[in-house]
Amino acid sequence: MSFALRTLTPLLAPSSAAPLASLAGRVRQHRASRPESASGRRHESSARWAEDTDTAPLARKEDYLPKWGSFEWKDPFNTESLLTEEEKMIRDSVREYAQAKLMPGVVQASRDYHFDRNIYHEMGELGILGANVKGYGAAGVSSIAYGLIAREVEKVDSSYRSALSVPALVMNAIYQFGPEHLRKKYIPPIARGEHVAAFGLTEPDHGSDPSSMKSTARLDGDHWVLNGTKTWITNSPIADTFIVWAKGTHDGKIRGFVLERGFGGISTPKIMGKYAIRAGSTGFIIMEDVRVPLSNVLDVIGLKGPFGCLNHARYGISWGALGSAEFCLQYTREYVLQRKQFGVPLGSFQLVQKKLADAMSEIALGVLATIQVGRLKDRGLATPEMISIIKRNNATKALAIARDCRDILGGNGVIDEYHIIRHVNNLEAVNTYEGTQDIHALVLGRAITDISAFHAIGPKGGKV
Ligand SMILES: Cc1cc2nc3c(=O)[nH]c(=O)nc-3n(C[C@H](O)[C@H](O)[C@H](O)COP(=O)(O)OP(=O)(O)OC[C@H]3O[C@@H](n4cnc5c(N)ncnc54)[C@H](O)[C@@H]3O)c2cc1C
Repeated sequence: MSFALRTLTPLLAPSSAAPLASLAGRVRQHRASRPESASGRRHESSARWAEDTDTAPLARKEDYLPKWGSFEWKDPFNTESLLTEEEKMIRDSVREYAQAKLMPGVVQASRDYHFDRNIYHEMGELGILGANVKGYGAAGVSSIAYGLIAREVEKVDSSYRSALSVPALVMNAIYQFGPEHLRKKYIPPIARGEHVAAFGLTEPDHGSDPSSMKSTARLDGDHWVLNGTKTWITNSPIADTFIVWAKGTHDGKIRGFVLERGFGGISTPKIMGKYAIRAGSTGFIIMEDVRVPLSNVLDVIGLKGPFGCLNHARYGISWGALGSAEFCLQYTREYVLQRKQFGVPLGSFQLVQKKLADAMSEIALGVLATIQVGRLKDRGLATPEMISIIKRNNATKALAIARDCRDILGGNGVIDEYHIIRHVNNLEAVNTYEGTQDIHALVLGRAITDISAFHAIGPKGGKV
């Protein structure tokens, strides 16, 4: 105990006792040394008191007292003010599309376990596939605009946002690691929605730990020959173009390959029985001696290849999850204002209001954090750990919000016509794919402690 206290004491002691009395003077001095702002006015900050405290006469009271904005529950921190006009325009167009074209059919599509291939033509026409890629027929929008697109689409269903995310994942992989001839050949038809793309990393025995993958790539003259099975692959049953990760038989190193269905040796059975992402198509990629030209390999070796691609995709997921949570909150609010029990609307009960208040607060905090990461991403300052925080936090919180909303809807909460149960089930999958919440916790724990906890340690210190 005494050891711990001694160790901690330096952390607890005040570092240097800056004389508080001099702070106002320091602020005055600091301001005086700064150039005027572009508008010719000195920056007005909350520290205006520093100019007034001792010498200046009081200005008009209305100028002096803090001003307040108006509160909007749908956007508690006024994040609208953080968006550019172009970003708002993109968001509004996608909202219109998603509500007009996707929302009306989503319940039936989920019941039928069906993804309508035509959605890709619509998305391609709208220009939202891989919209953050610059050039090659893609829109080249900001990371925030890309996120806003994902958010609007996932307000309808995570299946459609997954369908939106995977082409972006594949386009970004080819854009990031592909030579020019691969970019020119494969990105434009995916951007137009003519070719459907899939990204195959997960295997039946290796999900969270892709380093142990079994799929192999063997050199044979001017081709690689691929064998192995990928599972849980979004779009695989309908895909034309695949990125598949496999280990070289000669060096054990992981590489990414661009496959076309027409190469032969590829079968992609659909996974049946999913209770999540039912309006999306998910399946296997079974590769039996698939011959891939040498020129169709990506220019990256090791796990930094797939993980580099997944960072972009996880960023999009973190936006999408917020959209799903926002839908649940907005829908539930309408419901509790109309539905009466004990003679009053459900929305009159404190317990219900607390759940709505929690939901609104978590969404608002998530949106702020995600905008910040998006802006940093465009400036080249984002990190994979930041993306782990927002993917993990937004997906976890969205699931908790959706579950609370389902509870508030009572029996109707488990009927698909009321939508919420669909979002609950979808968010279970969103929490799992692209790194489960616990795997992202391990990424963050490692960042905090410098100790990797990915491998369980046995009693004698070795791996279990
Ligand atoms: C609908 C859907 C779509 C998907 N789409 C794709 C896709 O397009 N492409 C693709 O490649 N994959 C895709 N996936 C796969 C997804 O990424 C994996 O499901 C995910 O990575 C988890 O792997 P797993 O299912 O094998 O679970 P496992 O890795 O077996 O994990 C099971 C549990 O063990 C925990 N766990 C694992 N390791 C540790 C550890 N070291 N410490 C603590 N806990 C641990 C996990 O957190 C989890 O709770 C999709 C999955 C779903 C459900």
